[in-house]
Amino acid sequence: MRPRFTALKGVADVLPPETSLWRKIENAAAGVMGAYGYDEIIPPVIEQTGLFLRSIGDSSDIVAKEMYTFTDKGGRSVSLRPEGTASIVRAYVEHNLPVRPAPQKFFYFGPMFRYERPQKGRQRQFYQLGAECFGIADPGVDAEMITMLLTLLDRIGLKGLSLELNSIGCKECRPAFKERLKGFFGPHLNELCPDCQRRHEQNPLRILDCKVERCIEIRKNAPLISETLCQDCKDHFSGLLGYLDAMGAAYVLNPHMVRGLDYYTRTVFEVKGGAGLGAQNAVAAGGRYDLLVSEFGGPDTPAIGFAMGMERLAGLLQGEAAVPGPVLFIASMGKEAAVEALRMAARLRDGGTRVELGWGGSLKSQLRRADKINAGNVVIIGEEELMSGRFKWKDMRDGSSGEGGREDIFKQFSQAK
Ligand code: ATP
Ligand code: MG
Repeated sequence: MRPRFTALKGVADVLPPETSLWRKIENAAAGVMGAYGYDEIIPPVIEQTGLFLRSIGDSSDIVAKEMYTFTDKGGRSVSLRPEGTASIVRAYVEHNLPVRPAPQKFFYFGPMFRYERPQKGRQRQFYQLGAECFGIADPGVDAEMITMLLTLLDRIGLKGLSLELNSIGCKECRPAFKERLKGFFGPHLNELCPDCQRRHEQNPLRILDCKVERCIEIRKNAPLISETLCQDCKDHFSGLLGYLDAMGAAYVLNPHMVRGLDYYTRTVFEVKGGAGLGAQNAVAAGGRYDLLVSEFGGPDTPAIGFAMGMERLAGLLQGEAAVPGPVLFIASMGKEAAVEALRMAARLRDGGTRVELGWGGSLKSQLRRADKINAGNVVIIGEEELMSGRFKWKDMRDGSSGEGGREDIFKQFSQAK
């Protein structure tokens, strides 16, 4: 018996026509982000484990449960990246990018790895498209980034999404909030899930992010961080809202949102939407991380970023996935005609025209294939055409036809006009 391999659980092949949808999203993203001054950065997918422990935080679900961590042959603990920001901050510090004029703006695209329970909208390898902006604390930059994200989602063709916003304070005001939370959850400790009992000790903020029904119920009356923000954080947040109002951006304040990573400060946001996504309906998420660059040994550098989940974006657009049929299909009878077809196709393809050839088989079977793959036009090359150097073409959509020499074929179907 030969073995039959399948992909690992929770990882997926992305096949055509879905890949063309992905390409469309990537191109739209590169276009919009380019206009906002973002350039691509390509960090590695594997890093020292410590990088993620230090940034995402060991009280987060990602680090506590979801990391693909292993020891390499050199005895080092390495991890497949669960998200992009940590690597980009590392690269920013490692390559001394803080000396470049602020703001420094980057976008990235690539696979992330989290050992999660696979389900709709949740995979173990998934792709994120993200952006990071370093060096400016002004809430105008938060508004600019959010505007860019909304523009991008709109450009991709996604409608009916909602933007949720919150501020989770800074190192001045968050400790007091954590104490208040500890006090609030203390009497309910036994009713909380085991994870939240651990979180209560390590980082009570995480309890606000728990997905267990019982914990959600208990936290309904928990204190809100908005009640304990310091004046600077309040000003920053109201500054952001002022900019967004001025831009006419629609948002919903969500005072309960804390996000799943420890490095966030002040602004956090999520874009949710699309009934088609089921329970996992967040398509993009991000926030400020004003302390992370200095945490990694760089100079004090405010920063903000977001990441979008490609599978969830593509899921919302699924109906639109389509591979274009060839502009021209060249059927040929006999070896000499096949050579002619290949030459004709090469010239057109050179100019970017999508051309298919009807390799072998009867004319009838070649034409059947042309029909199946939705060819726009068909040319048939047989002995007569070879002799005369005149070719007939037929437009398969409207049934019209034409005739001409090689130059005419080229002119008729060349995309590189
Ligand atoms: P969730 O609450 O859905 O677990 P998260 O807070 O863990 O999301 P982030 O770390 O903020 O997600 O990642 C940003 C985006 O990446 C998400 O909004 C989502 O679109 C996508 N994403 C995150 N985890 C997965 C996954 N396991 N499979 C597919 N997409 C994912
Ligand atoms: Mg998650």
